[in-house]
Amino acid sequence: MAVKKYNEGSITIEIDEDKCNADGECVNVCPTNVFEIVDGKSKAIRIADCIECCACVDACPTKAIKHHSC
Ligand code: SF4
Repeated sequence: MAVKKYNEGSITIEIDEDKCNADGECVNVCPTNVFEIVDGKSKAIRIADCIECCACVDACPTKAIKHHSC
């Protein structure tokens, strides 16, 4: 299983790239623009900007995103 783990300070986001279908819901809902679709998968490339709102976890249609605080 290809789970990509992102960590910055106290924040951890995991994206299951087997589940990600790159529909971009996380890109659309994240208020601080943490995500970017790269090579057909969502990447939490600006995790340092995360404000822990949990919108990405709730919005993902395939439940590919886990957030330590959500
Ligand atoms: S928890 Fe909120 S701020 Fe953090 S990555 Fe998800 S949508 Fe963006």
